[in-house]
Amino acid sequence: MTPFLAKAAWLLLAGGWIVIRYPYARRARRTPVASSRRGLRERLLMAVSFTGLGLLPVVYLVTGAPRFADYPFQPVQAALGVLVVAAALVMFRLSHKALGRNWSISLDVRDRHSLVTAGIYQHLRHPMYTAFWLWAVAQALLLPNWVAGPAGLVGFGVLFFGRVGDEERMMLDTFGDQYRVYMARTRRIIPLLY
Ligand code: SAH
Repeated sequence: MTPFLAKAAWLLLAGGWIVIRYPYARRARRTPVASSRRGLRERLLMAVSFTGLGLLPVVYLVTGAPRFADYPFQPVQAALGVLVVAAALVMFRLSHKALGRNWSISLDVRDRHSLVTAGIYQHLRHPMYTAFWLWAVAQALLLPNWVAGPAGLVGFGVLFFGRVGDEERMMLDTFGDQYRVYMARTRRIIPLLY
């Protein structure tokens, strides 16, 4: 592994995510929302996450800033990062595919929203958040900079822990016992663990 390839792997991850998400984001614009829990808090959480997973790494890739936080490139660490990139993209694809028209960037319930418990959702309640955690881990492994690398873990961590409880409450309010039963038999983001 070289520093150049590590940076290219981060760009591949971000580009792959855009390509996977695009058709769902397009369809989402045409699918009416029945109720939404987007508020100022949700907007702030998304801004923090975007800063950590997108803005800071792009600034680092384009300008090299902040240079004071650089540390020597570790080829084995970066090679591990490439494996995590592949895992993140697989999880993004599987979760978007299973969620289909029920997908939203934030906390929305759509018209005729159905509870998805098939595909990757058989195994996890929040596989898309698993994919974002994998993105954050890959970024920390690929970018040898103490700010740009771990920024995704911090940024997405703030969104995840700030949102997941509200999202599950929204699903419980919408789907009641159906979601309660589903919760009882699945973990959030890591099979068997959490
Ligand atoms: N937290 C999920 C989905 C993220 S997208 C994951 O990480 O995979 C966010 C939207 O997905 C929310 O607005 C919610 O309405 C919807 N959602 C979450 N879990 C769902 C499920 N099991 N079935 C249908 N929609 C779901």
